[in-house]
Amino acid sequence: MDTTYWPATTGNGITIDEVLSWVRPHLLALKPYSSARDEFSGEAQVFLDANENAFGPVGISGNWHRYPDPHHAALKQQIGNLKGMDPSQIFIGNGSDEAIDLLYRCFCEPGVHKALLLPPTYGMYQVSAGINGVEKVSVVLDNAYQPQVERVLAKAQQDPAIRLLFLCSPNNPTANLISPASILSILAGFKGIIVLDEAYIDYCQEATGLPLLAQFPNLVVVQTLSKAWGLAALRVGMAFAHPAIISLLNKVKPPYNLAGPTQELALAALANVERKNEGVQSTLTLRASLLLSLGSLPMVERLYPTDANFVLVRLKATHNASEVYHKLTAMGIVVRDRSSQPGCANCLRITVGTEAENPKLLAGLLTI
Ligand SMILES: *Cc1c(COP(=O)(O)O)cnc(C)c1O
Repeated sequence: MDTTYWPATTGNGITIDEVLSWVRPHLLALKPYSSARDEFSGEAQVFLDANENAFGPVGISGNWHRYPDPHHAALKQQIGNLKGMDPSQIFIGNGSDEAIDLLYRCFCEPGVHKALLLPPTYGMYQVSAGINGVEKVSVVLDNAYQPQVERVLAKAQQDPAIRLLFLCSPNNPTANLISPASILSILAGFKGIIVLDEAYIDYCQEATGLPLLAQFPNLVVVQTLSKAWGLAALRVGMAFAHPAIISLLNKVKPPYNLAGPTQELALAALANVERKNEGVQSTLTLRASLLLSLGSLPMVERLYPTDANFVLVRLKATHNASEVYHKLTAMGIVVRDRSSQPGCANCLRITVGTEAENPKLLAGLLTI
């Protein structure tokens, strides 16, 4: 493997044919929607094939009267160059939430198959399970917010209906990376689709699991442009996986899931990878000073280690996290109350803000 981050591994013996045997059968047989432009490949000046408005968009300028590229070819090329992946290994969704939803729809028969979650973790895994009529099974993270690998694998072994397992690294809301050894052990022992959600990976790039794709055909790595790239409003998420899984996701997605302006703006932003990396460096610097300041507040019991652009803070029993949350809100400062999550009693999740925002948060906390 081309990285020193991951211990050597020889894979898990699962073949892509076995992975495809987990796909819901009606989807394997499905013939996808074929757009007018799919059926025509050549040069033309006159497009009268898609019932678009030939006179142009109303009230604004731009090429918005034409349907956008359903295959996101330019974006995939650019993302592939940045990540060292072939376009055939890349799916692009309307946010990574769309990729998560499609994975449920592709691999989980409602009322039959289940998803294994490791809370505390990202809320969408459970919401998406619920929307798709998929039962959730949980094995909580340990005190260091790492997976209890043996319990996870035992749970999966007892229940062959478990088809999807979500690992979030760095994990939201705890902010820590999942240890590479735990990820590899779970990959070695779980016979289902493992989704590795790397929404925050730009803040610790060396830890990406992308190199593992070469050895594990049941792995799907999910990333997003919503965090370090600063494009949350555009809704662009990526899934990286074996080309056979990517074809399946492409077949099931709505044909025009990424709007034209989204594709154009994302493409323009992605040309500035140095700017993104500088932004990450500034965030890490601001994070260090935020941690120092938070650590000096009497109300803070514990700051958890962070590999992301946020920090999980446990307050002392003298301060109720939900009350602190509401008091901050009244001052116009919004953080996230995570105190109801398993293992997060009396915890707030705080995003690293700008040079101007962080002092406002600290000043607010000092008045409580
Ligand atoms: C923010 C976040 C995402 C991003 O979702 P998008 O739909 O791409 O905006 C995904 N996973 C986790 C864990 C997140 O925290």
